[in-house]
Amino acid sequence: MNAHQHAAPRVSLVTGANKGIGLETVRRLVAQGGTVYLAARDTARGQAAAAEVGARFVQLDSRDDASVSAAVDVVEAEQGHLDVLVNNAGITGPLRDPHDYIADDLAEVLETNVVGYVRVFHAFLPLLEQSAEPCVVNVSSGIGSFGLFHDLDRVEATAGTPLYGASKAAINMLTVRYARLLPGVRMNVADPGMTATDLSGQRGHSVTDGTDAILHFITDSTDTGAYRDRDGHLPW
Ligand code: NAP
Repeated sequence: MNAHQHAAPRVSLVTGANKGIGLETVRRLVAQGGTVYLAARDTARGQAAAAEVGARFVQLDSRDDASVSAAVDVVEAEQGHLDVLVNNAGITGPLRDPHDYIADDLAEVLETNVVGYVRVFHAFLPLLEQSAEPCVVNVSSGIGSFGLFHDLDRVEATAGTPLYGASKAAINMLTVRYARLLPGVRMNVADPGMTATDLSGQRGHSVTDGTDAILHFITDSTDTGAYRDRDGHLPW
């Protein structure tokens, strides 16, 4: 860690950022200044989104080692370090009657929502460790919380699929365990809450509301190993 990096503008990267919560996170980070990489798997849609919000585009498919490592090479060559990683790229997976889920459905969801987060984090960790204040935000969901599952006043008690919920619970545990093992890297779990994007069928609050917890962890928090939505900390 170099002392001069404290004063340097922040370098951030957001995965799955061509639309939805990822795109709004990029837009808000660009507004704060610094360099923001909008990472997306589709080059045409990613470049168009980056141009719209004034970010740099980098191709990144979180399921593909070569793509992730090429994205690391770009950030390393251009910046030499990374201050903020937002692991956001996610899917719900198929929505079926519970009788009809098959093992491959779960493998599909875990590959993007969990394996993809670890792939991206592992690949960028050397660049994060070159930052004076590395920060990772893992975008999860209240649907991964056992505490909210048992609170029948909460929408999370009944919403969501078993596969998606299991993938988000896995992100939660990955995050707290990494946070404890790597005290030099601030690492937290953000729950956007039900947010109007393609993933939710455009139901829920605005993408600005849905990115409040992510931005909070980046700019207004010294937490590590914490879990919150825009209103405050959540039960695990
Ligand atoms: P969205 O609008 O469907 O956007 C998902 C993004 O992830 C898209 O840019 C998609 O790219 C990208 N993506 C999917 N698989 C990818 C891969 N293998 N590599 C790179 N990018 C990939 O959904 P969203 O609502 O913004 O979701 C963002 C995150 O918030 C997810 O982790 C989701 O679970 C979480 N979340 C959402 C809500 C909600 O109510 N919306 C609530 C809680 C948590 P393509 O356009 O190429 O498919």
